This record gives sequence, structure tokens and C-alpha cells, in this order.
Amino acid sequence: MKTAILRLDQHAIRKLDPVAPHPMALRDIMSDAAMYHATVLPLKGLRIEGKNNYDAVREIIFQSLRDESLGGEPYNTLKGLAYELGEGREQASPSFQCPYCLQDTEGLSFGSDEGKCIKCGGHLFLSDMIGFHLEMDENSAPESVSTEYMTVHEVLLLFTGIRYFWERKKYNVLKNALFLKDGPLTLRGQYSKLVIPIRNFFQFAKKQEVTIHVAGQEKTGAFVNHLEFIARDAPDKSYIVPDNDYIRQEIQHRPQEGKNRLAAPV
Ligand SMILES: [Zn+2]
Repeated sequence: MKTAILRLDQHAIRKLDPVAPHPMALRDIMSDAAMYHATVLPLKGLRIEGKNNYDAVREIIFQSLRDESLGGEPYNTLKGLAYELGEGREQASPSFQCPYCLQDTEGLSFGSDEGKCIKCGGHLFLSDMIGFHLEMDENSAPESVSTEYMTVHEVLLLFTGIRYFWERKKYNVLKNALFLKDGPLTLRGQYSKLVIPIRNFFQFAKKQEVTIHVAGQEKTGAFVNHLEFIARDAPDKSYIVPDNDYIRQEIQHRPQEGKNRLAAPV
């Protein structure tokens, strides 16, 4: 899997010819603008001596997040989110399911990278909180683990950018920056563990009058299809900011909460 983060320097871009930018000038802007991360997981047909794939994949994920070529920063971001660092509360990580006994742990104690399950004594990594193990079995991991790893890593990279400016108190940069994720800005199912700490952080920042702008860019899928559908009748240069109800009813076609309960299978 490979992920990357790019910084686009608006001042440098503004100096370019907007119609026919010089390719060398573009190259110079891009030369120190990117950070990459790459790792490999043994999903199928591979064995790591002395370990089953389940534990190997969990450990590789833990090590990969701490990738030294990025100075371990995406991992520090995960840690910052898990323990809500900087918000002055010393709390345990969110609780998660133990990869061994599958019972709910109480989360790792404040600031820890690793720990033990209080129920079975199994060794836990902070990265287990994300929940990759919930879709693996002992000897194989589905390919979705790699796509979800990329999604999670991209979110962590994006938030590493936010954390970078936040920790340096560059609030004006943050207020004027847009953090764009290539692809949907959603963490589904068990991967949604990070959503609550992310929301808490936005709330915390907002209280200090720092609004952080983050968006996902989608090129396919339900939102894009819906936009194409309604765009036919929309005036030029319109935009739409759908609320939750609109998304559920018009885009996802899901029943409203509290309705259709009687029709649900028992
Ligand atoms: Zn356990």
C-alpha cells in the first residue's frame, strides 16, 4: 500500500502563468511538497515464521504507522486523537475489542503504545483500537484490510498536517487552509472508532475560534451520481450543502430513523 500527502503552496502557485505554467516551475513547486509512505501486508499465501498471519498483520500495522521515514508522525497523530492530547484531559484510549478473547477492553491507559488485555492478558497495540483484526481470521486477512489501512493512513496523514500547525499555534494558517482528502472522508464500521475523537478535536478547536476545514473529494459513488442527476436542472455555478436528512433520503435512500421500524425483520 502506498499513501502520500501533498502541500500546495498558494503563494508559489499564484506566481505561475495560470494558462500555460512552465513545467520546470511546476516541478520545483512539487519537489519538496510531497511525503510518501509505503508498506506491505502478508494477506494470503505468505507465512511469517513463528507467527500466525493475524498477529503478523497486527504487528506490521503497528510498526508501519510508526514508519521512520515519516518520523513516526502518523502514529503520533493516532496517539494524539486516541488520548485527546492537548485537551488537558488524561483519559484512556477509546475501548475496543481484544484481538484474542474478543471481549471489550477498557482501552489502553493514558499515553500507552502497548498494553495487556485485562480479561485475558493478551498483548495489545494502540493500533488495535482501529479494528483491523475484526475482519481477519487466524491465517488470512481479506484484501479489504489493505484498502482500509490506506483509508485510515490517509486520514492520519491529513490530520498530521492539521496537528503540525495546531501544535505550533499557527492558527491563522489553519483558518486559511483547506485539507483535502482524495476519496470519501468516511471511516466505516469498526473503523469509525476515530470519528468521535476527530469530532471532539474539531469542537475543541472551534471553541478556541479556530475553524478547521476538511473535505473529501469523491469522483465516483452515490454522491457524484446524485450530483449529476440534479445538476441537469440546476443553474450554472450552483452548489449544494446537503444536511443529514437530505443525505439519508435523497442520496443513500435509507429510511429515516424511527420510521419503518414495524417493517424491520424481527
Ligand atoms: Zn483479551
